[in-house]
Amino acid sequence: MSREPILRVAINAPLSRLFDYLPPADGANSLPRPGCRLLVPFGRRRQTGVLLEVAKTSDVPAARLKRVQKVLDPEPILREPDLRLIRFASDYYHHPIGEVVGCALPAPLRQGKPLHESRQRLKLTADGAHAVPAEAVRRAPRQSALLELLQRDGSLAAEELDRLLPGWRQPARGLVAKGVAELVEELGPPPAAGSAQKTATAPVPNPDQAAALEALSGRRDFHVALLDGITGSGKTEVYLSLIQETIALGRQVLVLVPEIGLTPQFVGRLEGRLGLAAAVLHSSLPDSVRLATWRAARSGAAPLVLGTRSAVFAPMQNPGLIVVDEEHDGSYKQQEGLRYSARDLAIARGKQLDIPVVLGSATPSIESLSRCREGAYRRLTLPARAGGAAPPLLRLVDLNRHPPTEGLARPVVEAMRRHIDEGGQVLVFLNRRGYAPTLICRSCSAVAECRRCDARMTVHARSGRLMCHHCGAARPLDDSCAACGGPVAPLGQGTERLEDTLQQRFPDFAITRIDSDSTRARGAMDQALAAAISGQTRIMVGTQILSKGHHFPDLTLVVVINADQGLFSTDFRGTERLAQGLIQVAGRAGRESRQGEVLIQTAFAAHPFWHELLTGGYERVAAMALEEREDAAWPPFSRLALLRASSTRRADTHRFLEIARELADDSPQDGTRVLGPVAAPMERRAGRYRGQLLFQSRTRRALHRVLASLRPKLEEEPFARRVRWSIDVDPLELF
Ligand code: ADP
Ligand code: ZN
Repeated sequence: MSREPILRVAINAPLSRLFDYLPPADGANSLPRPGCRLLVPFGRRRQTGVLLEVAKTSDVPAARLKRVQKVLDPEPILREPDLRLIRFASDYYHHPIGEVVGCALPAPLRQGKPLHESRQRLKLTADGAHAVPAEAVRRAPRQSALLELLQRDGSLAAEELDRLLPGWRQPARGLVAKGVAELVEELGPPPAAGSAQKTATAPVPNPDQAAALEALSGRRDFHVALLDGITGSGKTEVYLSLIQETIALGRQVLVLVPEIGLTPQFVGRLEGRLGLAAAVLHSSLPDSVRLATWRAARSGAAPLVLGTRSAVFAPMQNPGLIVVDEEHDGSYKQQEGLRYSARDLAIARGKQLDIPVVLGSATPSIESLSRCREGAYRRLTLPARAGGAAPPLLRLVDLNRHPPTEGLARPVVEAMRRHIDEGGQVLVFLNRRGYAPTLICRSCSAVAECRRCDARMTVHARSGRLMCHHCGAARPLDDSCAACGGPVAPLGQGTERLEDTLQQRFPDFAITRIDSDSTRARGAMDQALAAAISGQTRIMVGTQILSKGHHFPDLTLVVVINADQGLFSTDFRGTERLAQGLIQVAGRAGRESRQGEVLIQTAFAAHPFWHELLTGGYERVAAMALEEREDAAWPPFSRLALLRASSTRRADTHRFLEIARELADDSPQDGTRVLGPVAAPMERRAGRYRGQLLFQSRTRRALHRVLASLRPKLEEEPFARRVRWSIDVDPLELF
């Protein structure tokens, strides 16, 4: 008996290996190819897996090998380049490959549904079409009725039959048995190539744009360019030109954006200029739409694929360019499951495919700037606003000289009045939703705390509740102190409170609050944005939701209520993030003819950060941050990974991390430091105690070696079942 081949299958399970199966009983002569989905027995259930390798032998004893039950795809749905990216992500992030495959597939495909919606159709056979075997159906009136319908039309789709003759499947079986009719599967219609009205023409590139295009256009091989241009400098115009050129060559373009909900204007602009519909992929689409879009990307029917981070896995028939807009944005990093950076995977993918990758930002990440310095990426700068508008003027408002009332300093209120009188719009930015961040007792000073987290409850006045922003817990607002029964009062400012204060100060104007509470209802965000964009609203209050991507033509003043928290962050990315946030929100001001003004309230006006930012801009802050990182050997001058763990028992979390540390110590370390275990700064969240180990290596290779040997040991470690744990390579948050 000749030995059967072994099918090695990736299954969505938290184990870093493939699972071996024998070919299906009926399919030994035509083996499925890697990239096809298979239905396999797994434990006591059946699972959809993806075939990755065909091997000659297996380590599993022959008697224990099970058979594949069914091959779900006649052709690989993930093709070789897609599988390469998946393998890379699994290796780089030390994450089980089956779960990586799970990230790369839309939900219906993960669940084993067909790639193409097939539709059933009942057809007359040649026999059925010729003679009417009346006696054959004489005693079956429903078969007879169905036959009559078929003879009129020749064939009918299942959904038409559902309408014409409910319950038709039973008589259909009778007709099929008699050889009069047959049930055939047909593929759904091919996805229509997207089209959109071409509504705009390109402006003539200015000299900076022309220089960038000169450097980039015509190059089709792998290279990374960083388009470093202030807000409004015309980066999008440069992308558009490159996209157009690539599509004209018959190749597809992938554009990644941080958050789709925030960028309808961006999508509309791309579509209007290119005259084609973008295939938009993001997580809040209905499954069926997502699948259809994924299919259009895969088949090549969609020339432009645009999406949030998971779109980096979108298969493409003929890719030619990848663009990552706002490359510094933290939302490119997935913070659960496979903790990947879509920007970094986009670069890896560009390299594998040998196509260009263009990153763009007004505030590039320190990592990308450092790659430019090394000469690995090419940096192209757009230093001025394209339309000729002057960049906004940043000024500090010293809260020690101008003590605020209800959160607002006098110069700020005066400036608001002036801008509104001159027909401008004002955006007041506060990164704290709710009414107040604390509820405090006036007699004993106790604060209302979350029962499941080491955190305070936020006061939400509109809903009359206390809410925890860490675990989502909510309870009715206390009207007296839980500890002493004394009177309680909200302390500090949130967007709700600021809205009330502004309404009192500016009673003649409608105030629009935009944060994740005010925009929860369907359509509320669009409505608020429409009011803001049309100029109907003169004063907007909001969180960082407002800081990205939007273009408010009349906006001339941005007020930042409280930036001081960021000054004292313990994270080595703290000042970089603060500067990015401020520049992004400042970039909303004065995008048209009038110059914008930005006022930043601070109680620490002498902090060196402000001097750097105000005199040297983001560039100076970034250069300083890079120096600090070099001195302290933080990334990119070292490589980091975190092993995070949590459990409902503090001792278990700690014990697991101790075990992990010992297991890691067993491996050859060549220059990897293991720091910890330490508790997370907010140790308890949602009732779980959290802790971590930090791995710091000089090189990626050294870090990789340690993690590659540690991960399988942890998967085998019995104590690991008592905790939840995860590995985070290149963590964005250190805590
Ligand atoms: P960014 O993407 O860097 O924020 P945009 O591409 O959105 O910048 O450009 C900002 C504004 O300037 C847009 O209204 C755009 O149409 C306009 N613009 C861009 N390039 C030019 C140009 N070369 N000439 C005139 N207007 C331009
Ligand atoms: Zn909580």
